[in-house]
Amino acid sequence: MSVFTLDVLEKELTGAKKVAIAGHVRPDGDCIGSCSAMYQYLKLYGNELGMEQVDVYLETFGPEFKIVPGVDDIRHSAEYEETYDVFISLDCSSIDRLGDFIRYFESAKRTICIDHHITNDNFADVNHVIPDVSSTCEVIYDLMSYDRITRDIATSLYLGIVHDTGMFRHSSTSDKTMKIAGSLISKGIDFTRLIDETFIQKTHPQMKIMGQALVDSRLLLDGRIVVSFIGTDMMKTYDVSSTDLDGIVDQLRMVKGIEVAVFIYENGNGTIKISMRSNGIVDVSTIAHKFGGGGHVKAAGFTFEGSVNEAIEKVVPYIEEQLSKAK
Ligand code: 5GP
Ligand code: MN
Repeated sequence: MSVFTLDVLEKELTGAKKVAIAGHVRPDGDCIGSCSAMYQYLKLYGNELGMEQVDVYLETFGPEFKIVPGVDDIRHSAEYEETYDVFISLDCSSIDRLGDFIRYFESAKRTICIDHHITNDNFADVNHVIPDVSSTCEVIYDLMSYDRITRDIATSLYLGIVHDTGMFRHSSTSDKTMKIAGSLISKGIDFTRLIDETFIQKTHPQMKIMGQALVDSRLLLDGRIVVSFIGTDMMKTYDVSSTDLDGIVDQLRMVKGIEVAVFIYENGNGTIKISMRSNGIVDVSTIAHKFGGGGHVKAAGFTFEGSVNEAIEKVVPYIEEQLSKAK
């Protein structure tokens, strides 16, 4: 029985002795889930393809993800002197999203990209990108043989699906997504704890800064856009870092009547990060792409060199343009 259901993947990995896996900067649930799932799978079955070493790289992430299987083995820096036969990029829409781990991509003999971002520019030797699918974890599920998926691998895959679908609410959730989620549950995973601890619970400072962002939010374009901003001074006040701001933009999206939520924070190096969420009419991925970023139709982002006001002044007209066309 082959290890992977996709011939090209099986072929590329056959004979590869050293394999690296990495995901995008500021890893989210789907990124952590897909990297840990692929890592566990290759650790268990890679030897059938001749694999001797599998390493997984991700930037540091929050302690809430410590319950995800396999994460203790993740390397959090690019200081390891390694060269790989195959490098697998997961949940990354473009090469720059690999951050420091790009060095392993560039020195690898062969590269594979597995992803679901509509803005993916097919930057690897082999690209398996399916934009309509809910999550990279859902893409990966299809590449694995069901009988080989252990409970721990199922936990990682479920994590990514839950996070990228916003708990099965986003329109990327298909009947197939639900069937896959069901089949992962039948592996005996503790999904209640997984969802509570990685998705729902927040530390008190995280909750408070979200409250601050909501209080400070403003409506633009007759209430069709909601915008909020958190600066580094505010992060200091609440003793949080930018990774503690996840979820704020999704909360802003819930404002009744808005089409787009824009959340901006300072990166601390002179640049700012813009996160956008759309309720359907506006394709925010095309807007993010114009500024060198990317993402999905309803969730996208980019980094901007300039002030918050400048960013808003530049982004709002693009949203307005799309809204007027949709009228
Ligand atoms: P978030 O707003 O939660 O950071 O990201 C939403 C979506 O947009 C995710 O799928 C994420 O991968 C993508 N995204 C966010 N920021 C960037 C960016 O700077 N570049 C690219 N290519 N994608 C981004
Ligand atoms: Mn994803």
